[in-house]
Amino acid sequence: MRLLKIQNYIGGSLVAPNSGKYLDNINPAIGEVYSQIPDSDRHDIEQAQQAAEKAKESWAKTPKNKRSEIMMRIADLIDQNLEELAKAESIDNGKPLKLAKAVDIPRASSNMRFFATGILHYSNESHDMDGIAINYTLRKPIGVVGCISPWNLPLYLFTWKIAPALASGNCVVAKPSEVTPMTAYLFSKLCIEAGLPAGVLNIVHGLGSKVGASITSHPKIKAISFTGGTATGKHIASVAAPMFKKLSLELGGKNPNIIFADCDFEKALKTTMHSSFANQGQICLCGSRIFVQRPIYDKFKTAFVDKVSKLKVGNPMDSDSNLGAVVSKEHQEKVMSYVALAQEEGGTILTGGVTVNPGGINEKGYFIRPTVIEGLSFDCRTNQEEIFGPVVTIMPFDTEEEVLTYANSTEYGLAATVWTQDVGKATRMGANLESGIVWVNCWLVRDLRTPFGGVKNSGVGREGGFNAFNFFTESTNVCIAL
Ligand code: NAD
Repeated sequence: MRLLKIQNYIGGSLVAPNSGKYLDNINPAIGEVYSQIPDSDRHDIEQAQQAAEKAKESWAKTPKNKRSEIMMRIADLIDQNLEELAKAESIDNGKPLKLAKAVDIPRASSNMRFFATGILHYSNESHDMDGIAINYTLRKPIGVVGCISPWNLPLYLFTWKIAPALASGNCVVAKPSEVTPMTAYLFSKLCIEAGLPAGVLNIVHGLGSKVGASITSHPKIKAISFTGGTATGKHIASVAAPMFKKLSLELGGKNPNIIFADCDFEKALKTTMHSSFANQGQICLCGSRIFVQRPIYDKFKTAFVDKVSKLKVGNPMDSDSNLGAVVSKEHQEKVMSYVALAQEEGGTILTGGVTVNPGGINEKGYFIRPTVIEGLSFDCRTNQEEIFGPVVTIMPFDTEEEVLTYANSTEYGLAATVWTQDVGKATRMGANLESGIVWVNCWLVRDLRTPFGGVKNSGVGREGGFNAFNFFTESTNVCIAL
């Protein structure tokens, strides 16, 4: 059988990589190669950058409402192709089809619409100096920018970066994860159908070490928006910062989920199921360290473990599967190595802790049972390092001060969740948690206008709303004497 060959999208056309070489793309729920992805290199990036350079003046001068119209057409096409895109995302990533249909793909079209309309409301600042002078600040597109995204929410995060860059008048050289390239490829076809001018967006597939590194180090790609692991972000910063590129880094997390005794118990329990295991725990915002206040610790632990043990891990295409496959064999091995480490560190597995073979066509897929681990100290490696899989730890605490010490003890600071009915306590936690985002009595409730990003080693800069437009533009202040 001839496998589908994904193509790069450069200068408005779908093209093969210069090398003529391809990499295997694996369906993680089946454990087999099902398509091929360009093994691109710096020559393809050079071509993409030149196509973007050629398009940049005209795109920057295209009126905002015209840019917005084209982006809205792309959003409409995403919606019209929801079924196909969701299925492709599920096959490529291993996530349940129902999740891709309800979250990933609708969010991709929302991203396009949000920034397509947002740019129409983005205004310049003006500062009046009491009759002496007046300042106004122009916001100009940077030119050619690079966007690099990870595998966990493929089209969702790819569009989250590309949409504000395009809306604010930049041309883009983008690289989706080589682990999940399919929806970015389908997206490039939709861009062609929607009439996006040639060279405005270029999508180059391939390995991070070749394609990603070529984007990061290209002297004419002036800004890098990156979402991925902290180690990769550190490397990118070491290359791009000395070149004085603008950098937005959205990195890893080790998020605390803090459950006080005065919480709405049922709501906390239900949401903790999602915040722990949605997308097989492969969301940077998942709460992987659960701290429960001692008076309800045993009650919560028993109810939680009971529910987790009943979750169905299976074929992502089945509507009753709660969890699908993790993204790759390597990732399965990494997650399982942390389960072993947790036991070495004295942890007890309350449920899960094993790989699963759902049988049938999924016999060779990469599945892990959702896992809850108890009995670890807050500062052990299992509780400090990002696992990024269906594995959570659960620990008791007594006081606010104590849980703040635990929560803030990691190198990360992306998101935190707090469950309490006491508004004073919620406010104090919001103020004292070292975290870019704090959710109180909810999780993953997203208003796209709000600042999104992490503190400490979880990242640099903020995306979302006008923050994203500020990142993708350069400002010039004009001061006119009166
Ligand atoms: P990763 O860092 O391995 O890869 C991310 C992207 O960077 C991929 O496209 C990859 O090909 C590319 N890349 C790899 N090496 C590169 C290099 N040397 N130069 C340039 N690009 C390079 O991350 P991943 O495994 O794909 O994703 C999982 C990680 O992403 C987790 O740590 C997770 O927490 C993080 N993440 C963060 C957020 C956030 O918003 N903060 C969101 C999603 C995922």
